[in-house]
Amino acid sequence: MHIFNGKGGWIEVICGPMFSGKSEELIKRIRRAQIARRRVQIFKHGIDARYDATDIVSHSQQKLPGLAVTVVTDILEMVDDRTELVAIDEGQFFTQDLVEVANKLANLGKRVIVAGLDMDYRGKPFGPMPALMCSAEYVTKQLAICMTCGDPANFTQRLTASKDQIVVGASEIYEARCRQHFEPPHEETAGPGAQAVARDG
Ligand code: ADP
Repeated sequence: MHIFNGKGGWIEVICGPMFSGKSEELIKRIRRAQIARRRVQIFKHGIDARYDATDIVSHSQQKLPGLAVTVVTDILEMVDDRTELVAIDEGQFFTQDLVEVANKLANLGKRVIVAGLDMDYRGKPFGPMPALMCSAEYVTKQLAICMTCGDPANFTQRLTASKDQIVVGASEIYEARCRQHFEPPHEETAGPGAQAVARDG
């Protein structure tokens, strides 16, 4: 990765399935910036009370203090003019406004790092992450370990039957799976619209 030191800002995205080390990688980059005495502000979505409401926490129990926000545009008001690095965890939970917020901060000359799931439990693009990846200068895609065979895993397997896109939890609800062992949920095929088409046809 080429990290340049001029005045320009940029966006880095760290994505992948659950357990792929996104939070660990985010924490590593933040710690290195702090060693370099850069001014850092850390945010995460308030929905994820997995371990601690205001800390960024990895599954391996590394953590850094952060601020929980639910409305992403609030970040623009909370970021100090002097801040050089804005780090955001659980980016998938924010609205599409995350893309505009990240671009505004980068255009102000800040380094912006967003970590988040690129796909949901169905293997579909998750929230603002795909669009953010288009705007980002650097995209790091991480893989976990498949809990069935031990191969590299690109997918997050939900172990419960809920159909909500957001169900917060860790290893009791989700596990990482490779392409061969990922079992996406069955799509609804006979909704009201499908019945109407069948009757008319
Ligand atoms: P993410 O933010 O992507 O969910 P974390 O950074 O929180 O990931 O946690 C990564 C850590 O999770 C790994 O270093 C490892 O200790 C642990 N872990 C548990 N299950 C797995 C798995 N299936 N594959 C890889 N790491 C796993």
